[in-house]
Amino acid sequence: MRKPNHHWLKSAGLAAALGVSLLAGAMERAERISGFAAEASRAQQALEEKLKAIPSSEELRKQHRHFTAEPHPAGSERNNELARTIAERWREYGWEDVQLHRYDVLSSFPREVVVEMVSPVAYRASLREDAYEVDPDTSNPRVSGGYLGFSASGEVTAPLVYAHSGNPEDYAVLRQHGIDVRGKIVIVRYSVPYSYRGFKALTAEREGAAGIIIYSDPAEDGHGKGKVFPEGPWGPESHIQRGAITYDFIVPGDPLTPGWASVEGAERIPVHEAQSVPKIIAVPLSWRDAKPLLENLDGPEAPKQWQGGLPLKYRLGGERVRVHLKVDMDTSPRANYVVEARLRGAEFPDEWIVMGNHRDAWEFGGVDAASGSAAMMELTRALGELKRTGWRPKRTIVVCSWDGEEVALTASTEWGEQFADELRQKAVAYINVDPGVSGPDFDPAAVPSLAPLLVEISRDLADPSGKTLYAGWKETVTRARKGKTPKDADLVNTRIGSGSDHTVFLNHLGVPAILIGFDGPYGVYHSVYDNFFWMNQFGDPGYRTHRLLTQLWGVLALRLAEADVLPYDFAFYGERVRQFVEEIARRKGVRDNLDLKPLLGRVAEFRRAGEQLRRAVEKALAAGPLDPALRERLNRHLIAVERNWLNPDGLPGRPWFQHVLYGTRYTYGHLELPGLTEAVEREDWPAAAAQVRILESALARNASLLARAHREMTNER
Ligand SMILES: [Zn+2]
Repeated sequence: MRKPNHHWLKSAGLAAALGVSLLAGAMERAERISGFAAEASRAQQALEEKLKAIPSSEELRKQHRHFTAEPHPAGSERNNELARTIAERWREYGWEDVQLHRYDVLSSFPREVVVEMVSPVAYRASLREDAYEVDPDTSNPRVSGGYLGFSASGEVTAPLVYAHSGNPEDYAVLRQHGIDVRGKIVIVRYSVPYSYRGFKALTAEREGAAGIIIYSDPAEDGHGKGKVFPEGPWGPESHIQRGAITYDFIVPGDPLTPGWASVEGAERIPVHEAQSVPKIIAVPLSWRDAKPLLENLDGPEAPKQWQGGLPLKYRLGGERVRVHLKVDMDTSPRANYVVEARLRGAEFPDEWIVMGNHRDAWEFGGVDAASGSAAMMELTRALGELKRTGWRPKRTIVVCSWDGEEVALTASTEWGEQFADELRQKAVAYINVDPGVSGPDFDPAAVPSLAPLLVEISRDLADPSGKTLYAGWKETVTRARKGKTPKDADLVNTRIGSGSDHTVFLNHLGVPAILIGFDGPYGVYHSVYDNFFWMNQFGDPGYRTHRLLTQLWGVLALRLAEADVLPYDFAFYGERVRQFVEEIARRKGVRDNLDLKPLLGRVAEFRRAGEQLRRAVEKALAAGPLDPALRERLNRHLIAVERNWLNPDGLPGRPWFQHVLYGTRYTYGHLELPGLTEAVEREDWPAAAAQVRILESALARNASLLARAHREMTNER
């Protein structure tokens, strides 16, 4: 669901302000891998070499074709058939406990969608995308027309107003021009940087609009960027960005079971009580379908920044153009399936490395998310081959193919809610791949405790040009920052929003999350052109980046599954939290209304405890293997740290979101220290002070947990 954005373009300034590189020690190809004793390191490296040799680009291309052969939205027969074939493959590959979990969830399929201009001229939008002879998939009769998941059903005829990106500040501009959108239909653009379309819908709903049209302006993902499909990777004139507008930033998953699993017999709330179901009629348009509407708008000329990539004067409208919208959605419940399989751990079966990717797609899902599904299948084949040689992971590896991600992060949320107690006990980390490959640029995100691990691993992998992944990655970031070389500590994005299946793990269950994928020029997101042809022409001809993704995903899973001591870096976590707090300290009104010194003191205490423990662990591992009982106790403590960031009361107004360091904005944008940040933005100082106390106590809990782990280590050795 999430559209890739290069984080370092946005955060370059902030990242440069961080003065330390905690990762400097990991520069050279290590004698010893973080978390492993010397002998275990050598065995691990040999195991990783074996794994890396297995994935094949040819096999990945075949897998990719399998997933992209037909449209397969959540709840469709084709998507369920894919679930069954995944389960079959996993059994063949030697995976264990293969099962399908079924969730019957509120769904949203179009029966009828109409967009027409009734005056000043009659015109009806096609809501279809052009077929191209070079790409037979584009003429597949099972491709749907344009619609938005969870649009309200209804019908309205009203004047049209252009509201730019459809953000609250855009409506303020309209008000300055004396334009009231109440009862009218607004037309807004998909925007860069990405802002979730559901937030545009909610904003229009709150402003009192009767309907919303969201169109793809060529300035953002079409010819304004470069060559368009089928000559280039950008969106052609008729491409439509489908998508859901579900308000899953309030609570994700099945709208009728907020906070619990949609299993058989579960209580369901009535639809009108569901907070995540929009009440506004919404439709997506290609720019070709939108152009006649925009051309006919009257009213004041739109501000300069509002002018788009079409050869016309963008006006605010409001009188002349009248539009008729009709949307009729079938919302009857449908089955969503999670396919789950495991390799049971030989030594620590109750410590789980969970990994997943969503299977459902708006149409063929070439990038989103079949590129990730192909890598997941090839990785499970590779791990299965290792198992056939007699190997078994020390910890349990759990793999899941999610469903309904595109609709409301649905099935991963339901699965996470169903197994919440067990996951809070056992999950070591969750590795998510959504758009696996849309180009060659590595752009991962992770909680800070696992960010250094990604950098360390990147030195042990080769990119398609033969450089290390680390070197290629650094070059990409340097280029994006116009020649400014990043520090290692700034390579991994540690600002994680929502918009994909990591959400339930990180924000609801307190499981450390890692998101991996490769980006590039990509203007066909959620359109029919996001397909096999696109991938072979533009995204990854030869599937060599897919191969790298598979290897990376595998090495990451193996490091976590095999480590003597789980390679979390809490000193680095502390450093990042300090940065988050200092950003808050600089915000308007904070100096006069909040005392953040005690909080910064707690952060420093946590960071010091992390540093002290890291040193002790490294020293101990350098000296040889740890005592097994000590090691087991230590890992239990380490796993508990992320869980301690949960506040069972949740965010004010969004109780499902329980993590005190990570939340999400309604745009899916990242939101650090969410409770505190939102209170500061509201200038509600008593609420902000209460949030500071919540943070202080979480930090104190974790500092004393790490100190205790350190004591146990130093006493018993
Ligand atoms: Zn996706």
